[in-house]
Amino acid sequence: MSKPRLVFATRNPGKVREIAQMLSDRYEIVGLNAIGCREDIPETAPTIPENAIQKAEYVLEHYGTHCFADDTGLEVAALDGAPGVYTARYAGEAKDASANMAKLLGALEGADDRSARFRTVIALTTPEGTRTFEGICEGHIATERSGAEGFGYDPIFVPAGGDATFAEMDANAKNAISHRGRAVRAMVAELKAQG
Ligand code: IMP
Repeated sequence: MSKPRLVFATRNPGKVREIAQMLSDRYEIVGLNAIGCREDIPETAPTIPENAIQKAEYVLEHYGTHCFADDTGLEVAALDGAPGVYTARYAGEAKDASANMAKLLGALEGADDRSARFRTVIALTTPEGTRTFEGICEGHIATERSGAEGFGYDPIFVPAGGDATFAEMDANAKNAISHRGRAVRAMVAELKAQG
């Protein structure tokens, strides 16, 4: 029997792969290209949860399909929660991962408190309305980059409980503890509970 299709409101193939891996027993996960959505979806809300909701509801409104959308921020304690909702464009509109890391390492130079957390919110549209699920991964910002896996801030984020950065972990090890992994599992638990 073919699996039900679930649209993930992203056009990042790495993210689709990451989540498809976690849900492959139950769903066929497809990205925005599969529903013919080629434009940039507005992400102009002031908070992470509101951004996720904005993206998911845009797809429902314009393409008539239920979906889920995620939004993630890196919250650094010594920077009062920044870069937060600006995580992707911390060092400018180019959304350059290397420049973002350089800026953050600079901002934390000499800081005693390097604690930080990733926060993902997933918004899922359902016939009953939009629901959100949160996943948090606590950790700290390393003093230099290590590792070549993953993307974004992975080379400088060390999740709590060890010394390795996300970029030194394989995808399965990262998914098991990551912010996005936790948020996805919360959503899956809810989908399973609904049958
Ligand atoms: P998005 O909402 O998933 O696009 O995430 C916003 C930004 O957070 C990305 O552009 C990355 O810079 C960063 N980010 C999100 N998830 C991760 C992760 O798992 N590792 C490292 N950086 C991440």
